[in-house]
Order: sequence, then structure tokens, then C-alpha cells
Amino acid sequence: MADTIFAAGFKETPYWWEAAPRPALPEAPLPERTDVAVVGSGFTGLSAALDLARAGRSVTVLDAGDAGFGASSRNGGMVGGSLKWGYSDLIGMVGEPKAAALTREAMASLEYTKDLIEREQIACHLQKVGMFVGAHRPSHYESMARELETTRKAIGLEAEMVPASATRTEVDTAAYHGGKVLFRQAGVHPALYHQGLLERARNAGVQVASKAAVEDIAPCLNGVCVTTPRGRIKARDVIVATNGYTRPVTQDLRRRLIPIGSYMIATEPLPPEVMRRLFPNNRMIADTKKILYYYRPSPDRTRVLFGGRAAVWETDTKVSGRTLYRFMTGVFPELDGVKITHSWTGNVAFTFDRLPHVGTRYGIHYAMGYCGSGVAMATWLGHKAAQRVLGTKEAASAFADIPFPTRSWYQGNPWFLPLIAMWYRMQDRLAA
Ligand SMILES: Cc1cc2nc3c(=O)[nH]c(=O)nc-3n(C[C@H](O)[C@H](O)[C@H](O)COP(=O)(O)OP(=O)(O)OC[C@H]3O[C@@H](n4cnc5c(N)ncnc54)[C@H](O)[C@@H]3O)c2cc1C
Repeated sequence: MADTIFAAGFKETPYWWEAAPRPALPEAPLPERTDVAVVGSGFTGLSAALDLARAGRSVTVLDAGDAGFGASSRNGGMVGGSLKWGYSDLIGMVGEPKAAALTREAMASLEYTKDLIEREQIACHLQKVGMFVGAHRPSHYESMARELETTRKAIGLEAEMVPASATRTEVDTAAYHGGKVLFRQAGVHPALYHQGLLERARNAGVQVASKAAVEDIAPCLNGVCVTTPRGRIKARDVIVATNGYTRPVTQDLRRRLIPIGSYMIATEPLPPEVMRRLFPNNRMIADTKKILYYYRPSPDRTRVLFGGRAAVWETDTKVSGRTLYRFMTGVFPELDGVKITHSWTGNVAFTFDRLPHVGTRYGIHYAMGYCGSGVAMATWLGHKAAQRVLGTKEAASAFADIPFPTRSWYQGNPWFLPLIAMWYRMQDRLAA
């Protein structure tokens, strides 16, 4: 590894914030009443807020940090429509009809998000380039091929296997034994997408309040009282959209989520011919490891943006930057010596059944638990949560009528993560 991997002017904030810095919103007093209070201003919260405001509801979005402080402005910008489960495993878990409904809806979330971006004319570098998923082991390629065939037959997934000999037509690395291309997947600049949603929501009349951490949510006469340091609001309905940042104020939901840090780095600009060779089709890339890598060219195709689970507990992003650099140069040895300009982190939320969830508990609506793939799913389930508030037929969702599990011993502090990470790393090393 190079002596110093950090470029002059290195930043520990997301690369994405260069083009879309955290917005400075007017600090207007909070209204006394609102139809709907939305807790969390990421894709889930804003997608819900936009629907509700367009349906004529008054909406106040509250965020503990700046608007979009959470994962929505920090992620890899890969717009996917897949679940964490393979189709056959999902059938084993919930039966064929439900597995088909969940998988179809995941695919619908992808189309919904691309359509929304186009309909709203959000300039966020939507690139319909597809995704390549590299097989970490030859056995992964075989099981991937079987799985793809089943899914294609059952629900018409648009995908194709790429044999080991053709891997370099997708990504210039020796790291994979072939893989698959998912043609419908896309890339966006996530912070510009967030900025566009924020602008559309505010233009539709939504009040978005930053630095307004919700400290209490309690029933009060004909509604729910939501308390923040900036004042108390009485709402008819509340949507909790806090995903990997869920706090004890919604402890019943927090107990159902496992927050995990995800980490990314951005390289300095690379020569165009190198970028074209590394990513011949400009695709989003992921792999089949238990602790996977995900990476892509920046939207302007000048840099490599590389992500992964570089640490179990929240860590200094210089430390995680070094780890990710090692992962990246493992995939692309020729990048040893290239410097990195940004290293950052954010929280995702896993669930005990590794499925996202939308629903209503004790009169409070929620959408969350995207298991690291929330660009499309958060947009979609935010929309579904809004439709639940509005009571429309569109509210129906396969993700609403499954139990949202927890464990009796779990209070929201995932002390067991180092053990799981160790087990997964071992499996990644040993898998044939
Ligand atoms: C590094 C990284 C890379 C990722 N890459 C991808 C990817 O390529 N593709 C993909 O599909 N997904 C990816 N994800 C996941 C995706 O970003 C998330 O699933 C999605 O953004 C979740 O959106 P959200 O609106 O539900 O939550 P968030 O955007 O996380 O927003 C939650 C908000 O809730 C606020 N909040 C919490 N508690 C309170 C409270 N009490 N009061 C007020 N506000 C509160 C927080 O401040 C935060 O802003 C990635 C995530 C990370 C961190």
C-alpha cells in the first residue's frame, strides 16, 4: 500500500456533498398543528411527505440533523430492486405466492424510483446502466445461475449470466469467477436525488425542520403530540422514517432494527482510458461475499467510488479509508498508489428477517429496515406509508402484512455484530 493514501485536501465527508452540500433551511418556528409529522428527512420521509402534500395534507418533516443527514445523502447511489434473499430461499421462508409478491414489489420499487426521478425532472445523473454482481467463488456462479433461471421463469427478471471467461467485459479484475448482469438497475448521484426530492417537497408546501430531534411521541387529544427542542407539534398522523438512525424515542421500532455502519471512499480523478477499461459498461458493481464490496464509477466517470463494511463499530473514517483502500486495491491492483480524496460512513438498518417493513404499530406509521439497499425501497415504502395515511388502495404492500420480528433479549444495541462479522469473514475466506 502507498505510504500515504490521502490526497491533499482529503475530506471525511461524503464525496456527494461537494455537488450537493447539506442545505441551510430557514429556521421558521414549527407549526402548532400539522396533518402529518414525518420523523426523518431521508428518501423515506421525503417520498412520503411529497405524496401527502400533493394530496392536500399539511406536512412537517423533522430531522435531528440537517436535512438528509442520514444515509440518503451518503450512499453508493445504486438503484437496485433486489432483496437480500435469493428467490428459492424466500419461497422456503414465506411460501411461493408471498415470495413472488415480495420480489415483484422489490422490482416495482426500482421502476417507481426511476419514473419518479424522470417525472419530477430531478437532475441527479440517473444512469440506466445496469449492475454486475461478481461471483466470489466458482460455486457462487453455479448457484447464481440456478437462482437466476428460477427467478426469470417465475417473475421475468431481466438478467443474464456472464461466464468467468467474459468477466472483464464487465469489470477489469481477476477477483471474480463470472457473475450476472441485472439490466434494469441504475445509478444516481444520491445527494442530488435527495436535494431534488427536498425541493419538490418544499415546493409542494412541506415544512422541513432541521436540528429538530424528536424526543417524545405521545397520544394527545384527537392526535399525537410530537416534542422537539424547537417546540411541540400536534399531528393527526405520524410517520417514523429513521431507518439506521432510529433512536430510543421509538424504542418499539428500534428493537426491530440492527444498525450497521457502511463505509465508502472516493479516489482522485483517474485518466479516462483507465476508467473506461476498469468499467467498460459503466455499470454499478457488487459481489456475492457475505461481507460484500460495492463500487462504481462516479457519475462523471472520473473516479472510483468504493464501499463496504470496513468496520463493525463506528470508526475514524481515516482508519476505514485505509481498510477500504486495501479492499479496492485487492480488486484493482493497478490502483495501488492512487490517492483518495474522501472517506465517509453512514448507517444502514438490517432486520431479523432481512426484509424491509412498512406498517403501523400503536397508531404510528413506519417504513424502514432496507438492509443496505434503500435508494429505491425507501422511496417506494415512503410512498406506501403515505398511502396508508391517506387510506388509499395503493397502500397495499407485500411488505406490510409480514410480521416485523425482534428478539426478546434485543433492545437495539447490536453487541453481537463482531461475532457475526467474524463468522461471515471466515465463510468468505473458506467458501469453495
Ligand atoms: C455508505 C452507504 C452506502 C449505501 N449504498 C447504497 C446503495 O448503493 N444503494 C442502495 O439502495 N442503498 C444504499 N445504502 C442504503 C440507503 O442509503 C438507505 O437504505 C436509505 O438512504 C434509507 O433512507 P431513509 O430515509 O429511510 O433513512 P436515512 O436517510 O438514514 O434518514 C433517517 C433520518 O432520520 C433522522 N432521525 C433519526 N432519529 C430521529 C429523531 N428522533 N428525530 C428526528 N430525526 C431523526 C436522522 O437524522 C436521519 O437523517 C447505503 C447506505 C450507506 C450508509
